[in-house]
Amino acid sequence: MPFGPTVWLKQFGASLLEFFLPRLCLFCGVAVGEEAAVAVCPECEAQIKWVASPRCTCCGMVFADREGGDRVCGECQADPPPFARARAVALYDGPVAQAVTRFKFSRQLAFLPVMQHWLKRPLCIELVADADLLAPVPLHPKRIKNRGFNQSLLLAQAFPGATVAREAVVRTRHTAPQVGLNPKERRDNVKGAFAVTDPALVKGKQVLLVDDLYTTGSTVKECARVLRKAGARRVEVLTVARVKYD
Ligand SMILES: [Zn+2]
Ligand SMILES: [Zn+2]
Repeated sequence: MPFGPTVWLKQFGASLLEFFLPRLCLFCGVAVGEEAAVAVCPECEAQIKWVASPRCTCCGMVFADREGGDRVCGECQADPPPFARARAVALYDGPVAQAVTRFKFSRQLAFLPVMQHWLKRPLCIELVADADLLAPVPLHPKRIKNRGFNQSLLLAQAFPGATVAREAVVRTRHTAPQVGLNPKERRDNVKGAFAVTDPALVKGKQVLLVDDLYTTGSTVKECARVLRKAGARRVEVLTVARVKYD
């Protein structure tokens, strides 16, 4: 159960308030014009670092030196990931980092429509259009119980018409949060933590994994690995944010 009745009631209350009060920027609090698609003022919007070339054609890493064109990064060359390509909307910085963390850890649901709006950029639409189904990165039921929702599932629901297979990949064991772990610890932490329960669902399909944040990619790599093992033809990854540079 992603939302309890209290959450819905709060959301309903919030939309009533929104109807009577001027809409305020979620990040700085200034009034936002009626015409704005979401509650983000132009100044805060200007602080967003949209992912741009040069980046890795595979994992989507943004090259810090900002020279040359798109190419495969050293890490993907040395150890090709089980997904074909991973793309993020913006760098994990400024308003985008705030939206991701305040939504996930403080349950500030007002950030959901903002992130869903960011996911409507052409690059994301292209990934979604190419996919047979969208698979949110799963949370362990214990964590869903604590948080009240799976942020990846809610983000995947940004695309009406797309098939969201909420249980294409499931978590088979509870893992410690990845925050604060080094890349090797992150890999070990998620190793064997996921499974595909119904291989027929993904067999021969192009699957788009959806998550909020790409850090070292260890979680989506492990999800992609089990999907490929279950017969998925191709796996791609879409996240709202990506950690800064290499
Ligand atoms: Zn603002
Ligand atoms: Zn790469």
